[in-house]
Amino acid sequence: MPQQPIYLDAQATTPLDPVVLDAMLPYFIERPGNPSSGGHAYGWEAAAAIKEARQRIAGAIAAVPQDIIFTSGATEANNLAIKGVAEAYLHKGRHLITLETEHSAVLAPCRYLESVGFEVTYLPVQGDGLVKLTQLEQAIRSDTVLVSIMTANNEIGVLQPIEDIGLICRQRGVLFHTDAAQAIAKISLNVQALNVDLMSLTAHKIYGPKGIGALYIRRPSVKLAPQIHGGGQENNWRSGTLATPQIVGFAKAVQIGLEQLEPENLRLQKLRQKLWHRLESLQGIERNGHPQHTLAGCLNATIHGVDGPRLLAELYPHLAISSGSACSSNQGQPSHVLLALGRSPALAKASLRFGLGKYTTDAEIDYAMDVIETTVTKLRAEKGQLLESSPDTK
Ligand SMILES: *Cc1c(COP(=O)(O)O)cnc(C)c1O
Repeated sequence: MPQQPIYLDAQATTPLDPVVLDAMLPYFIERPGNPSSGGHAYGWEAAAAIKEARQRIAGAIAAVPQDIIFTSGATEANNLAIKGVAEAYLHKGRHLITLETEHSAVLAPCRYLESVGFEVTYLPVQGDGLVKLTQLEQAIRSDTVLVSIMTANNEIGVLQPIEDIGLICRQRGVLFHTDAAQAIAKISLNVQALNVDLMSLTAHKIYGPKGIGALYIRRPSVKLAPQIHGGGQENNWRSGTLATPQIVGFAKAVQIGLEQLEPENLRLQKLRQKLWHRLESLQGIERNGHPQHTLAGCLNATIHGVDGPRLLAELYPHLAISSGSACSSNQGQPSHVLLALGRSPALAKASLRFGLGKYTTDAEIDYAMDVIETTVTKLRAEKGQLLESSPDTK
């Protein structure tokens, strides 16, 4: 029996890779310079490190370095993209389009904009979590300024057809932002091929440090109103002293992620397959989200015949797992993503999100499934309604 719960929450965050930590360490004490201090070697050293990191991160998405703006994470990048574009394009209109299944870091800025006079269309998704392209096309209006649709969903792992969405937006003359917090260094991303105008990134889902991310902005075509005013860093788009250690760590994490991308995805797919086979054998299990268009490390499933909060409470001592995003599950709310897929609130709560990462082992999956099997069997027996609930959840 392991002492600590097994970590199966890689979509919430990931531990730092020790190699990333090594890359960051010199920039805390030995090389403390402010990259904006142009007058001395400490400043140059920091500026050089940031330049290299910016090149690395830009290269990872086929962008040019000047188009990468460092932020405190994907939440800030999303806020800058959505509110920044909305404010900068008032002359064009006040309408935005997004998805019901977006992360709260997209939905909340959209709701804020609604409260100050903008209009937002929240597109529904299909039963498999994918956007319907014809619905997107129909939703675009002459006053639409931005479409914001995530690359990879943080709860169900579903990968949206970003290239098709980008093409539609390009043809209709609408800017396209994508929250790629879950996708960077896990799938290959090319902002040119995908026709993306703005892309949000973060480091802590890929074994990098928390508190650092970036926004890609296609220059010079995209205009943006800054949301943080100050010393004018990052071309005046995001003021504040650049966090050299975090930026260096972010770039290192991206580098390692890309180097390991294919073998790691194959390994994760195999692990997930094994997990799914055992889970399925419990009967009364429904997978949430498209089984192929998905992140390799993510599996979300609804467990019929159990009380969700009860199940999670039983699992917590053994497994660090969640029923939805870190933001909603700790408030006891059913996942808005699973509701959008058509699950009832009770079934949404009786769902598990497995986040497998690069430190997840075969033995951990075996152990996790032993625990889940025992717990689910026990709870179903208690309820005396094994498989009684209809698999049709709509
Ligand atoms: C984690 C996450 C965010 C928030 O990123 P932070 O860097 O923690 O602010 C935004 N969007 C998605 C899809 C995420 O998974």
